Amino acid sequence: MYDLKKARGTVDRDEITRRTRGMWRWEEFLPVIHRENQIFLGEGDTPLLSLPRLQQELGLTNLFVKDESSNPTGSFKARGLAAAVSKAKELGVEKVIIPTAGNAGGAMAAYAARAGLRAHIFMPKDTPLANIEESRMTGADVILVDGLISDASGMAGIKAREEGWFDVSTFKEPYRVEGKKVMGYELAESFDWTLPDVIVYPTGGGTGLVGMWKAFAELEELGWLKNTKRPRMVSVQAEGCAPVVKAFQAKANFCDFWTNAQTVASGLRVPKSFADHLIMQDIYDSNGTAIAVSDEALLESQGQLARAEGIFAAPEGAATLAALKDLIAQGWVQKDEKIVLFNTGSGLKYLDLANK
Ligand SMILES: *Cc1c(COP(=O)(O)O)cnc(C)c1O
Repeated sequence: MYDLKKARGTVDRDEITRRTRGMWRWEEFLPVIHRENQIFLGEGDTPLLSLPRLQQELGLTNLFVKDESSNPTGSFKARGLAAAVSKAKELGVEKVIIPTAGNAGGAMAAYAARAGLRAHIFMPKDTPLANIEESRMTGADVILVDGLISDASGMAGIKAREEGWFDVSTFKEPYRVEGKKVMGYELAESFDWTLPDVIVYPTGGGTGLVGMWKAFAELEELGWLKNTKRPRMVSVQAEGCAPVVKAFQAKANFCDFWTNAQTVASGLRVPKSFADHLIMQDIYDSNGTAIAVSDEALLESQGQLARAEGIFAAPEGAATLAALKDLIAQGWVQKDEKIVLFNTGSGLKYLDLANK
């Protein structure tokens, strides 16, 4: 584990910048103790891209995308699962189990294969084909569930208790969020140890949002930030599954379970996060907001981002652009603010959408 007070005196942020690329160059702040347990497939250090053509279309001047699609298995889930599977290995675990909306399962299967662990995955039967295939290909035992991630979660929980397997469900173990927080460190480093004004993030289980907010607090404690101005966090969801948006509008601290969740953005098809109170707290603390977009709007934005900048985003990532357009229309963001969209995955993982 790590001790921020100690790190403040002994870890040098500029030395970290000189290390070999990847998530593990932040090892002092990650939960794995012995380096030989760090399972590395190339995760982390994704590009922060400026968007000159898109920002012109939108009338903005300081727009970026943190493009997570280049992570192993094509989504940012790789970060969290790299941390969790590495720690599981270090703890002597042999079997890991996860309920997933798709990408977390594929990522867990890959890291489990590389760690020599057995992976058991419960996912909805209408999960994108890429997620099912990548999981099977890497040797996982895949159970297709007639229902949503919430149903898969119930089944996996029972199995985990019966068999004593290590449960890697979102926020039911403490390690995935640690891997995800590195996105926050990378952002600060890319902006020369300052933070952007606004972060627009597609929210399902919420590990990315909660993880980055944690990273900002840690960076502040380390004394590494040139100023302590925090970004406003925007949580983006799909209209067909928007528990965080509904809670935000009601000024609530918890989310209600969303019934009949439906959206093409499978990573956002999470009826209720286990960490809903943390998500809400971080949005409020940051003076942020929560916004829902239609599938039609996010698919249109997917095309716009691809045509303007050559980035074929996952529908979840494209949802952030659709939301940004609403925020501009509302006057919630200003022209010159530094805004970062998160493209959390590759559009190539969703080719079954093209047949729908
Ligand atoms: C899981 C996922 C999300 C949602 O991320 P959380 O951290 O669970 O909120 C967004 N986009 C993609 C592509 C995902 O796989």
